[in-house]
Order: sequence, then structure tokens, then C-alpha cells
Amino acid sequence: MSSERENGKREIYLDNAATTRMPDVVKEAMEPYLGENFGNASTMYRYGEEAREALERTRKIIADTLEAKPSEIYFTSGGSESDNWAVKGIAGEQKKEGRHIITSRIEHHAILNSCEYLERLGYHVTYLDVDENGLVSPESVMQAIRPDTTLITVMFGNNEVGTVEPIAQIGRIAREQKILFHTDAVQAYAQLPISVRYLPVDALSASAHKFHGPKGVGFLYIREGVKIPSFIHGGGQERGKRAGTENVAGIVGMGRAAELAFSNLRRSVQKETMLRNYMIEKIFHEIPDVRLNGHRSRRLPGNISVSFKGLDGASLLILLDEDGICASGGSACNTGEERISYVIEALGVPDEYAAGTVRLTLCRDTTRQDVDMAVASLKRNVARLRE
Ligand SMILES: *Cc1c(COP(=O)(O)O)cnc(C)c1O
Repeated sequence: MSSERENGKREIYLDNAATTRMPDVVKEAMEPYLGENFGNASTMYRYGEEAREALERTRKIIADTLEAKPSEIYFTSGGSESDNWAVKGIAGEQKKEGRHIITSRIEHHAILNSCEYLERLGYHVTYLDVDENGLVSPESVMQAIRPDTTLITVMFGNNEVGTVEPIAQIGRIAREQKILFHTDAVQAYAQLPISVRYLPVDALSASAHKFHGPKGVGFLYIREGVKIPSFIHGGGQERGKRAGTENVAGIVGMGRAAELAFSNLRRSVQKETMLRNYMIEKIFHEIPDVRLNGHRSRRLPGNISVSFKGLDGASLLILLDEDGICASGGSACNTGEERISYVIEALGVPDEYAAGTVRLTLCRDTTRQDVDMAVASLKRNVARLRE
């Protein structure tokens, strides 16, 4: 996927884990709801009805992608809100039964900071270590369970290093122990097939702008029967659980983006995975002293996280940008805050490599030509920095 920059340079966008490009068809699906169909879904006349129908159509589209029921889908403002709601809501609802939460060290900050907030309120949180591939072991989850554990939250796929966690196994443990299980699937939803009919998860977060939809909209799946309090108090929207006039255009855009992603999911996953593997092999073939972070095969289709020995990743990103290549360091959310990301640290990446980490994330539109150009630029610029 490339386009022209103002200076006429071709742009190669390899930062799809940070956010994705919204195709015109998604924009076009949203447009009526930004213009003539401006109705409030809570009003009784025709405009309102159109908005209401659009919301419920989208709820059905999203539910079908997960094999869930429409009544189990709640629209939110995105991944961060869904994560906050799941963690604070599920933990809060059960505080009489216990105040212990299990999570991992490599979660997104929306999870980690929600957990820290709960710690300040008197909850106890176990942050599980991961192995050198970024995997949370189901045994470590089992060992961390206490009589007062009420919530386990482990991400589906890691946004920095791409590792896909053993969610089914962890979910089975949670279910056997009668503990609720949430997964942050923001990076995995619409990248991997997920069915809540078979997967033992009680709540799941997703965000539209990570799958070619608009920013500021997402959803939380909550399994029927799981008790969770209202997150935003006010009117009766989202069955009284998430008040506020709905972002109709955004929600419709998310639905259209989901339809596009799922219409061809297995094929695009396969294509993206092959291109990713081709790129990894090419990097290893062309550039010495490099390591791949995250699990080799249990990996999000578009993720490549590599560390180059003895150089500064931030400097490399600047040189890549000069060549029209957009990539990022550990994750978009941490830029500037810390030199070495906490995820890279948790994996135990050796010091001489850790500072030289870059993340290249592909999407279904990335081409072999994009990859070839990016690797050529990487090769040239890594050599330049190592001189
Ligand atoms: C991007 C991301 C989020 C946050 O989603 P927003 O919609 O940007 O708030 C949460 N978790 C993971 C794993 C992410 O990659």
C-alpha cells in the first residue's frame, strides 16, 4: 500500500499496528450519517429510525463476525474504553467475592493502567511474566489463581511483538475455576478468525481504526449472563450500559470495515502471512546481527518486530522516514516516553539489541514491491548507522 508524498516520493506505510488507512468505501458508507441522515437514534421520527436501524444492522454484522449474539455487542469509543470498561467493570461488579486480578506484563497500557488504578483502590494484581517469545504460559495463570481471583485478562495478540497468546487454554482454565476471562483482541480481531462459540472468553475488546475503520469507535463483546455495570451513566443507549448519543457514522463505518475484512479473511491472512515471512527472511538474508522479537509462528499475520545490534532504533526510523517508509519503535503509544519498551524488556531482549528495535506492520494491501523497497532502505540505513 503506497501513495505519493508531497515531495513526490512514494510512501510505504508499514505501521498498521498503530492505525490503518480507511478505504473510500468505508468513508462512503459513513457519509449519509454525517449529512442527510443526521438523526439521533433515540428519537421517534423517521431520521431517528434510520439511525437506529443502521446501529442495529451494524450490531448484527459485528456479532456475526464473532458468532456472537447482537445483544452481546456494546459499541464504545474504541479499544481503550473497551479495555477500561471490561477491567474496571468486571472487577468492580465482583468486589464482594474477591479483589484479585491476573494479567500479563505485556498488555497494552489501557489494561495495565486500569489495573494500576484498581490497585490504588485496594485490589491486588498479578502481572505474569512472559517467556523469551512473549508467551504467557497457561501453567503460570493456573499457579497465580487465588481463592479471591475474579478476573483474568490476557491479550489475544501483542501489539509490539505480534505474539498470539494461548487464549483458548487460558480461557479453559478460567472457566474451570469459575473466573471471568477478558481478552484485548484489538490487534487480533479482523486479523485472525475468532469465534466466541468455541473460544471460552467472557469479554473481548476491539477497535475499528485497527482494521481500516474510523478512529474513535470500537466495541466490547460481553457474553450473555456476565454481569457488568454501566460504564457511562446517563441515558438508555446501549441497553443502559453505555450512555451517550451514539457515534452513528463511526459505528456504520466500523461495520463496513468489518464486512470488508471478513469477506476475504482467510485469503488475506494467508497472503499477509506469506508476505510477512518473505520480509523476515529477506531481512535476515540481507542484514547481519538482527533478531526477531516475538514468537516465530504464533504471530499476528502482519507483525514484524526486529532488533538490530548496536544501533539506535529512533535514528533508524528517521532515516526510514526520509526514504518514505513509515514504521515505528516499540509501539505508537510509547513514543518518546522510554528508550526501551516494557514489552521488549519483558521478553529479555539483550541490551545490545534492545535499543535497536523497530516494528514493521503490514496490512492486506501491502505489496511485495513495498517490502522489497523497505528492506533495501533498511539494509542501506542500518549499514550507515553502523559505520
Ligand atoms: C491500539 C490498541 C488499543 C487501544 O485502542 P484505541 O482504539 O486506540 O483506544 C488497545 N489495545 C491494543 C492491543 C491496541 O493495539
